[in-house]
Amino acid sequence: MEITETDLTHLRRCLELAREALDDGDEPFGSVLVDAAGTVRFEDRNRVEDGDETRHPELEIARWSASHLTPDERAAATVYTSGEHCPMCSAAHGWMGLGRIVYLASSAQLASWLEEWGVPAGPVAVLPITAVVPGADVAGPADELVEEIKQLHRRRFA
Ligand SMILES: [Zn+2]
Repeated sequence: MEITETDLTHLRRCLELAREALDDGDEPFGSVLVDAAGTVRFEDRNRVEDGDETRHPELEIARWSASHLTPDERAAATVYTSGEHCPMCSAAHGWMGLGRIVYLASSAQLASWLEEWGVPAGPVAVLPITAVVPGADVAGPADELVEEIKQLHRRRFA
């Protein structure tokens, strides 16, 4: 599915959250959960700096949705994120039955930047969301914003 102007608005918020994470010593990732009516219901950013490497915003969204949304609301919601879900977060998204995902940069793009900067590969495989959740409705990358998130990753990792 194509990325709309509304999608870009939410992705820009993800970018802001990623910048906020970076400025606070965390990795630059941010995500937003939007319901079927277009209302932002929850947002978070990466919080791994204290040592819990699983504190990704997409996982927090999946957990939040468990106690705040009905199954129908989850299926109709959209998750926006500055970086494509990792396999852990894809699985959580799939298990909770959340709806569409729109990401700013793909996992493959991030992996290629890290390689370009000589950063060693992480312990978890780089997989597209649909390799983990075959039925997921996924859009991305958002070409017009990719350079901005790349700059944030460069500040963190290069
Ligand atoms: Zn993740």
